[in-house]
Amino acid sequence: MSDCIFCRIAAGELPADIVHEDERVVVFKDIHPKAPVHLLVIPRQHIPSLRELTPEHDALVAHMVRLLPRLAEAQGLKDGFRTVVNTGPGGGQEVFHLHFHLLGGKRLPGMA
Ligand code: AMP
Ligand code: ZN
Repeated sequence: MSDCIFCRIAAGELPADIVHEDERVVVFKDIHPKAPVHLLVIPRQHIPSLRELTPEHDALVAHMVRLLPRLAEAQGLKDGFRTVVNTGPGGGQEVFHLHFHLLGGKRLPGMA
C-alpha cells in the first residue's frame, strides 16, 4: 500500500469528495478549502511535483490543464478562477504528489 495520501485517494483506499475522475486524473474537494470552491486535480500516476515532469508527461499535463476551465464551469465559476501549483517546501508544497489547486467563488486577493 502506498504511503502517499493522494495515491491512496486515487486508488479508493482513502475517502475523498470526488467531483470528476477519468483514466488519467482524479479531482476532489480540498479538505481545508481556502475559497467556496477549492478543488485538487491530481494525476493517477505518482509524480512528486512539477520538477519531475518529463516530455513523456506532456499529454497528461495538457489533459490536466485543459480540464481546469471545464471543471470551473461545472462548479459555476462564471467570473473566473485561480489555479495554483506549489512546488517544493519553498513553494509551500505539503503533499508531494503533483496537484493543481482550482480556487474560486469569491473575489480572491491579488498575488502581489
Ligand atoms: P500543497 O500545500 O500545495 O501541497 O496542498 C496540499 C493540499 O492538500 C492542502 O490544501 C490540503 O488541505 C489538502 N489535503 C491534504 N490532505 C487531504 C485529503 N485527505 N483530502 C483532501 N485534501 C487534502
Ligand atoms: Zn502519490
